[in-house]
Amino acid sequence: MECKREENVKNCTCKGECERKGKCCDCVLHHKQKGSLPHCLRKQ
Ligand code: SF4
Repeated sequence: MECKREENVKNCTCKGECERKGKCCDCVLHHKQKGSLPHCLRKQ
C-alpha cells in the first residue's frame, strides 16, 4: 500500500510541527504508547 502522507497532511488538524505529521500510522502508535489521543481524535 502506498503512503498517503501528502493527502493526509492536507486534512491534518494538528497545529504541532512534528515528524509524524501526516504519517498517521506513526502518529497513532506514538499517542497510543503515551496513553493519549492524536489531535484529530480529541474534542475540538
Ligand atoms: S497529533 Fe501528535 S504525533 Fe500526530 S502530528 Fe500532532 S503532535 Fe505529531
